[in-house]
Amino acid sequence: MIYLELPKSLRVLANQAHQIGKNVFRPISQKYDEAEHEYPKELDMLAALLDGLDAGGGRPDGGGVTALKQERGGDGVNNGANMATCVGLTELCWGDVGLALSIPRQGLGNAAIAAVANAEQKKRFEGVWAAMAITEPGAGSDSANIRTTARLDGDEWVLNGEKIYVTAGSRADAVVVWATLDRNLGRAAIKSFVVPHGTPGMEVVRLDRKLGIRASDTASITLSDCRIPKDNLLGTEDIDTKEGFGGVMQTFDNTRPTVAAMAVGVARAALDHTHELLAKEGIEVRYRGSIHSKNAVEAELVRMEAEWEAGRLLMLKASWMADNGIPNSMEASMSKAKAARVANDITLRCVELCGGEGYSQRRLLEKWARDSKILDIFEGTQQIQLLIIARRVLGKRSAELR
Ligand SMILES: Cc1cc2nc3c(=O)[nH]c(=O)nc-3n(C[C@H](O)[C@H](O)[C@H](O)COP(=O)(O)OP(=O)(O)OC[C@H]3O[C@@H](n4cnc5c(N)ncnc54)[C@H](O)[C@@H]3O)c2cc1C
Repeated sequence: MIYLELPKSLRVLANQAHQIGKNVFRPISQKYDEAEHEYPKELDMLAALLDGLDAGGGRPDGGGVTALKQERGGDGVNNGANMATCVGLTELCWGDVGLALSIPRQGLGNAAIAAVANAEQKKRFEGVWAAMAITEPGAGSDSANIRTTARLDGDEWVLNGEKIYVTAGSRADAVVVWATLDRNLGRAAIKSFVVPHGTPGMEVVRLDRKLGIRASDTASITLSDCRIPKDNLLGTEDIDTKEGFGGVMQTFDNTRPTVAAMAVGVARAALDHTHELLAKEGIEVRYRGSIHSKNAVEAELVRMEAEWEAGRLLMLKASWMADNGIPNSMEASMSKAKAARVANDITLRCVELCGGEGYSQRRLLEKWARDSKILDIFEGTQQIQLLIIARRVLGKRSAELR
C-alpha cells in the first residue's frame, strides 16, 4: 500500500510555514523586490522564532529551513530532516523565494555542513549561518574545473581564489568554500572549507543585481592568503582518486530536492492566484469529465496541475530517499530538473492567462515568473541535471558522457 498523504507532524509544519509565507513574506515581498540588497530586517524576528522551535525540537541535520525531529513510523521508515525541510520550504516559497533564501542560519552552506561535516564540526558550526561558494568565473556547470586552492601551512589552510554568485554571501556568518588541494589530482582533490566572515584575506567585492530573487544577496568574494584552522576542512583531507568528488558532491543530493521544493512552492503560488483571478471573472475549473469537454483555459490549468503534481512527487521521493539513507543522486537531479522546468512554465503561463493583470506589478505573478527562473539555473542547470540523469540511466562515467 502506498500512502501519499503527509503524516500529521509534517502537516502541522506545512501549515506553520504556510502562515509565515502568507503573513510575514507576502506583505513585504514587493518592498524587497524593489529595494534590492536592502536587508529584510523583518527576518530577524522570524529567525529567532525558528531558533526557539529548534531549541524545543532539535534539528537533526544542523541546518535547513524549519526541519523538525526525525519521525520514525511503525514500519521503520524515516520522515526526517530532508523531508521536513522540503515541505517547509515549499510553503515558505509559496510566500516568497527570495525571502526564504534570506532567512538567517538557513543557508545552502548549512546543508553542506550537514552532508559532509563530522560530529565535532556539526556541533562546532551549530547555529552558524553558512553560504556556499562553489562557482568561479571559469567554473560554473563544470565545477570540477575550480581554481581556488587550499595549501596546508602548519596548522592552517591557506586559501586563494575568486568565487562568484554566492547566495547570502555577504550576510551569512561564514562561507563554505570549495577549493582544490591539488589541481593535478582532479575532482577527488576538491574539498570544502568553512571560512568565517571577518577572517583576514576574505573579502566581499561585489553584489549582483538580478532578474529575480532580489531580496536575496548574491556576492562575489575574493580569497587572498586567507588562513583558517586546519580542522575547518569538512570531512577528510585524504584524496581518494577512485572516489570522484571525494564527498563534496553529497551536498547536492540534499540540496537539489530543496531547490525542487522552492519550485513547487512558487508554482503553487502562481496557480492559486490564477485560480482566484479567474474565479472573479466567473471561470471555475471543472476537474471532472474528459479534457475534450473543457474550455481552453480549463484544459490548460488541468495540464499545469498535473505537471505540478509530478514535480511535487519527485521532490518528496528524493527527500524521502535522503532521509532513509538510500542513494538518491539521480532522483535528486530528476526532482530538480522536473520541478524547476515546471515552475518556469507555470509561472510564465499564469502571467499569460491573466493578461494585463498578470504582467502588471499590481500583482505578484510577474515577480514569481522572474523569481522562478533561477531555480532552473543554480545548484546545476536544467541541462546539467539531464546529463547527470543520462549518465546514471546509461551507466556512464562523467568522462564518457559530457
Ligand atoms: C542568483 C544566483 C545565485 C547563485 N547562488 C550560488 C551559490 O550560492 N553558490 C554557488 O556556488 N553558485 C551559485 N550560483 C551559480 C550557479 O550555480 C551557476 O550560475 C550555474 O551552475 C551555471 O553556471 P554558469 O553560470 O557558469 O553557466 P555555464 O556553466 O557557463 O552554462 C551556460 C549554459 O550552458 C549550458 N551547459 C554548460 N555545460 C553544458 C553541458 N555539458 N551540456 C549541455 N549544456 C551545458 C548550461 O546548462 C547553461 O545553459 C548562483 C547563480 C545565480 C545567478
